[in-house]
Formats: sequence, C-alpha cells, structure tokens
Amino acid sequence: MTDTQHITVATAWLDGCSGCHMSFLDIDERLFTLAQKVDIIYSPLVDAKELPESVDVGILEGSVSSEEDLKKAQEFRRHCKFLISLGDCAVCGNIPGMRNLFPLDAVLHRAYHENVQKNPQIPNVGVPRLLPTVQPVHGVVEVDLFVQGCPPPADVIWHVLSELIQGRTPDPMTLTRFGK
Ligand code: SF4
Repeated sequence: MTDTQHITVATAWLDGCSGCHMSFLDIDERLFTLAQKVDIIYSPLVDAKELPESVDVGILEGSVSSEEDLKKAQEFRRHCKFLISLGDCAVCGNIPGMRNLFPLDAVLHRAYHENVQKNPQIPNVGVPRLLPTVQPVHGVVEVDLFVQGCPPPADVIWHVLSELIQGRTPDPMTLTRFGK
C-alpha cells in the first residue's frame, strides 16, 4: 500500500454478470467517503484504458473462461500488490463453471448449432477464444483475499475496502458465504 489513508484500486470483470460491480456501487452514499480515500484508477466504472504499472488493490469479478480473461487475470497479478477475488464466480467458478460438466465442443455445439435455427455457426471472429475449462481466479494466479457471495453484499465490500484503507487485512469469511 502507498499509505494507510489513501489507496489505488483497479477492478475488472472477467466471465461474470457485472452483479459484483453493481454490489460495489450499492454501498451508496458511502461512495463519497470512499472517494476521499480511494482512487479507482482502472475499472469498467471509469474511463482509463490501461492498467497502471503499480496498483495497491486489484479486484477481479468473474471466472476465467477465455484467453482474454486469462490475460487480464495475469496482468492484474503482475500490476497489483494485493489481489482480491470478488464473488462466487471468481472464487469457485459458480455459474460459468457449470459448463465444465461438458466438453467445450459440446457446449459450443449446443449453443450455436442445436439452439439456432438460422445460419448456425460458431463465432470465431472478434470474440475471445474460450478455454477448455472454466477456472476460478486462483486457478490461474495467486490470490490474496477471497470474498464469497453472489454477489457479495455491499456492506462486505465496504468492510473489505475500509480495512484495507486502514492498513489491515480484512477477514470477510465471517460476514458472507457462498450464494449469499
Ligand atoms: S458472483 Fe454472482 S453477481 Fe457476481 S458475477 Fe458471478 S453471477 Fe454475477
């Protein structure tokens, strides 16, 4: 951390529904307090296009399902001093991970041939290639903190960030659980 009063934060969503980011925004008026102590320097919530060289806290929502997700997770690990896996998709694969019950070819065939009536074809231009299986974030990079929940409640996200601002490592395990 740069100091215990002000931290830089980067967030990204991988294979997720954005619900964890919405829960982040649900901390409502506390966002004003947070804005005094946190600089969100890269996120779907801001305009920055490049992940800065060094970030205090990285937050990843969603599982690692594609080559693009893998690249993003690795980039966050390289650039972020402290990496948080936010939400059940990031922590355990959750809904995206359900496709692991079937081979990737069967999943693609089901989605783009069996359930399509007009011009069925598997998209391969301008879309990231899917990995053979879905991984939680810690399946591909080291993670420093896991925050369960689908999504994790806003109060828990607030607690985690507040503790980090104070220079303490939060323990969200007692405040949330899978699927909560
Ligand atoms: S954990 Fe739940 S809310 Fe978060 S990205 Fe996954 S499905 Fe959406």
